[in-house]
Amino acid sequence: MQYKTLYAALGVLLVTAACASRRAGEPLKPGFNLFSKQQDIQLGQEAAAQVNREFQVVQNQWLQDYIDRVGRRLAASPSAAQSGFPFSFTLLNAKEVNAFALPGGPTFVFTGLIEATETEGELAGVLAHEIAHVVLRHGTNQVSKATLIQLPAEVAGVAVGQGTIGQIVQLGLGVGLNGLFLSYSREAENQADALGAHIMAEAGYNPIEMARFFEKLEARGGPGVPQFLSSHPSPGNRVKAVEAEIQTMPPRMYGFNTGQFQQARQLVAQLPPPPRQQAVR
Ligand SMILES: [Zn+2]
Repeated sequence: MQYKTLYAALGVLLVTAACASRRAGEPLKPGFNLFSKQQDIQLGQEAAAQVNREFQVVQNQWLQDYIDRVGRRLAASPSAAQSGFPFSFTLLNAKEVNAFALPGGPTFVFTGLIEATETEGELAGVLAHEIAHVVLRHGTNQVSKATLIQLPAEVAGVAVGQGTIGQIVQLGLGVGLNGLFLSYSREAENQADALGAHIMAEAGYNPIEMARFFEKLEARGGPGVPQFLSSHPSPGNRVKAVEAEIQTMPPRMYGFNTGQFQQARQLVAQLPPPPRQQAVR
């Protein structure tokens, strides 16, 4: 693609973004992207291999199965499954209140998040929100936009070629994964809350638990601000926005839970202390 074409594309993108203020219930679709869906998957798998090396994966099969069970239930909802992405869920022994999902589906949950949640619905809410970022391809969408703005045209033109995927992953790991895939705009947060609400509802969880948990984290404030909020900035009024989204859905009973959340919390409390190094933010 030529420089002029790139900037024309960017212009259209910005104009579109300026006009597009989504109302509750309107469809949610991935935005501008230089990557193919297959490249999302490839990037995510390469970065996930790095995460598995740099973090301590929890060595407790029951806990891994538990997080996988909750995650897969959400990923099987029509709103998530239509993406076709191969989701996976891994519990990391790390004390921060955090979770993140890489492009194409690898999703990581910190034990600190399980400690911070009070119900399975809250935990499922964070997972549904992360799954929504993957479905909406926010990671590579943001890299695509940054590529248009920052890189010379020749580089932008080849940036999505096969040979450079590894370089992009290395770049991302060099600046911390947050810098590349995992630091979202407030607009992306709004979208992930809205799609996350649909994913939760379809899986039988009450979507309001997601928004309430985020607002609870925000209310903590101070120096101990949860890591999750630095990569997922608050768009404000999350509970209100999710309530508006729920109004657009068919009425449902939200009674689902696995009945295993308390056991999961007890097992997390018995794990050995997490290692100190946390290279990838
Ligand atoms: Zn988010």
